[in-house]
Amino acid sequence: MPVLNSIEHYLSTDGIRITLADVSDAAREAQDIHQLQSMAAVIMGKILTASAILAMDFKNHEGVSLKWVTGSPLGTIHSDAYEGRYVRGFPDHPECSLPDYSPDKESDFVSCSGKLFVTRYSLLKQPYVSAVNLSKGDVAECISEYINASDQTLSHVEIETKLDKTGHISRCSGFIAQLMPEGNKELFHKLFETGEKLDLWGEGDHSLTGLLRKEDYILLGKADISYRCTCSEDRIKNSLLGLPVDEQQSLLDDEKIEVVCHYCGKKYHISRETLKKWFQEKKGGNV
Ligand SMILES: [Zn+2]
Repeated sequence: MPVLNSIEHYLSTDGIRITLADVSDAAREAQDIHQLQSMAAVIMGKILTASAILAMDFKNHEGVSLKWVTGSPLGTIHSDAYEGRYVRGFPDHPECSLPDYSPDKESDFVSCSGKLFVTRYSLLKQPYVSAVNLSKGDVAECISEYINASDQTLSHVEIETKLDKTGHISRCSGFIAQLMPEGNKELFHKLFETGEKLDLWGEGDHSLTGLLRKEDYILLGKADISYRCTCSEDRIKNSLLGLPVDEQQSLLDDEKIEVVCHYCGKKYHISRETLKKWFQEKKGGNV
């Protein structure tokens, strides 16, 4: 079963590659930071998992950012996986009121006239964005749709969450299986296209653990995974310097301003003096 809070990359001798991730603590942290009810929390957790498993090229530090236009009251959901071990994310409307989570309702809130933008980058690749219009499906089905269209490799994705009695996420894991160019297509169909989901957390024959054991997978890489933000005062400075001059001026009306990071909720208080200094520096061409 996926090890708690970790990402693992496997390859089988039959040419099937599997990346699996467990982001349980990170998904719970996202739920706490954004105060999400169960439906929004599950969707957010699954999208964090999706970005983690899409960053398959761990040797070249592949990063993945998802901009998921849900077409539902949640608005757009943003999620990043970076450095092979960190995730972060937020929905535009964490406060929206949705029904309690149930698997059959998930697709109503992730893909009603939805669109998914995926940015991928690594040491070898400049960032590039691809987009797909989503047909109705849950998070895993939408990710399968994206990867089959963009990579043109045979892929299979499953993502599952478990909630405790209070509607808090207790587990959040998923995997992607991809057929390599020389891989065994028949075996891939047999393992992943039965129409039945694998048991992600069990140990039995029809579990992911059972499959990894039986088919002789080699572990290529493994890392701990956690929720981490990249915000800093420097980044806030850069984005404020990008504002039109009249908007910058209006920020100087108050003694200080408060900027809240969407991803982690951290509050930055910036005094008028500091703002003046930043804007002055820019005018002087020192930035
Ligand atoms: Zn932050």
